[in-house]
Amino acid sequence: MSFIKLTQRINRKSQIYNCLSQYFFGTATYKGKPYYDVVISGCGPVGAGFACALSNSPYFQRTSKDESKSILILDNQKPPKIEEVSLNQTPDQRVYSISGSSQKFLQSIGAWNLLDHKRIGKTEQMQVWESNGQGYLKFHLSESQQDSNLGLLMENNNIVAAIVKRLEELDQVEFAIPDSIEKFEDSQENDNIQLIQLKSGKQVYARLVVGSDGRYSAVKEKKGIPTYGWMYNQMGVVCSIKTTKATKNTAYQRYLEGGPLAILPLWDDYSSIVWSVPPYQYEELMKLSDEAFLNELNHALCKPSIMDTPTLALTPEANKSDFTSPPIVTQICNKRLAFPLAQLQSRRYIDKNVALIGDAAHSIHPHAGQGVNMGFNDAVALANIVIKNKRVGHNIGDIISLQEYENQAKLFNYANAISMEFIKKMYELPGPFAFIRNVGANIINNNSFLKENFMKVASHHPLAPSSYEWESQN
Ligand SMILES: Cc1cc2nc3c(=O)[nH]c(=O)nc-3n(C[C@H](O)[C@H](O)[C@H](O)COP(=O)(O)OP(=O)(O)OC[C@H]3O[C@@H](n4cnc5c(N)ncnc54)[C@H](O)[C@@H]3O)c2cc1C
Repeated sequence: MSFIKLTQRINRKSQIYNCLSQYFFGTATYKGKPYYDVVISGCGPVGAGFACALSNSPYFQRTSKDESKSILILDNQKPPKIEEVSLNQTPDQRVYSISGSSQKFLQSIGAWNLLDHKRIGKTEQMQVWESNGQGYLKFHLSESQQDSNLGLLMENNNIVAAIVKRLEELDQVEFAIPDSIEKFEDSQENDNIQLIQLKSGKQVYARLVVGSDGRYSAVKEKKGIPTYGWMYNQMGVVCSIKTTKATKNTAYQRYLEGGPLAILPLWDDYSSIVWSVPPYQYEELMKLSDEAFLNELNHALCKPSIMDTPTLALTPEANKSDFTSPPIVTQICNKRLAFPLAQLQSRRYIDKNVALIGDAAHSIHPHAGQGVNMGFNDAVALANIVIKNKRVGHNIGDIISLQEYENQAKLFNYANAISMEFIKKMYELPGPFAFIRNVGANIINNNSFLKENFMKVASHHPLAPSSYEWESQN
């Protein structure tokens, strides 16, 4: 028998075996073990968003209900249900400022309409000032932009629950929760596919394993991908508060000696805080009673600045100060949580049959609220490339196929990390530099051209992907 005939016979045999196995067990198999195109470790906003992007593409959709699913998603914890999110009176402590690009992404995967919209805060004005001078920056929408916003404020739970609901509607993903990756087995005989041992004892094959399992990513650790960067000597303290409704829909950020304090307006009187503080202050703040913590917050927001700086009005209108006094915090609504702040980058975002997205690939200081926006950009860039490769028949886990993702995502994330680091460092400069910074802030504040361009870049970063392969019909 010729070699070709023998291979054809083996292929036919394995196809028959796959068909029977799909029929009886509902799963495609390879060498007797379940097989998936993509296994995603981590069903947070970024991993779930990526799974949803693929599920929207015809290249990852089943033609019939009997056919097995080509995507498996693993998580240690059950994702929230949107009905439970809506029932909760108090906001989730983890709140993100969602950029225009991220809004478009959520719309394109069909999760937008499933969010609980009553819980979304809309930023119409943003004020940035400091305790070390009188300079401030105030961003607001022009008359013609009243239907727009400077970022939407959304709870982590609301986002994850809406995406998971959309995944359930699309029904193209198999969930294995709770389960996670125990180890990567050597699939020596076939380099194009990865054998994975799961904690549940199951073994599965995947063409591509996506690590979206957060900063302490198991995928990154088990693949031995190094991380570089540094820990800031700071913790981010988060919780929900109620405030007086001084100026509705205004987000505030005050740079204090220990780090920035942000107040993000949600619905009714609710807001969320992110307070970056050094370890000694973190320990003190976490020990305080709610009442004492409330007093600390009001003091941090309202204490007078320690230095006078000229206002430098460049136009007659600019002489009228539009500084808005921050609202008064009236109630602490839930437990304070904290997370260590860091500037971290994975040395590589890809490996053979592996890609990292979201916090698994990078994390930055939350002072510009870009963490999850950068993660969504990774999800878009990777989904675009995986769908393109699947369409033309390339192996989606091949390192050369994945290289384009790494190049695109790193360019965007490095540019973002450098600009965020620059702003952070600027606000840390002491003494005479603080004077120059305050004067600089006033110059920018009086220049509407500069401010409009800052707002444009924050909403739709020029390096962020703007087209979605899953919307393409070919
Ligand atoms: C308390 C807190 C408050 C925060 N507040 C802000 C903020 O105000 N602004 C901001 O920009 N950023 C904030 N962040 C950071 C922000 O949450 C992240 O940037 C964002 O969640 C990244 O999304 P992700 O999907 O990549 O990772 P994550 O949201 O961390 O999701 C990872 C998912 O993987 C799962 N997982 C973890 N390990 C495994 C494993 N071994 N196997 C399987 N699944 C696993 C987790 O259960 C989770 O569902 C905060 C973080 C914390 C912890």
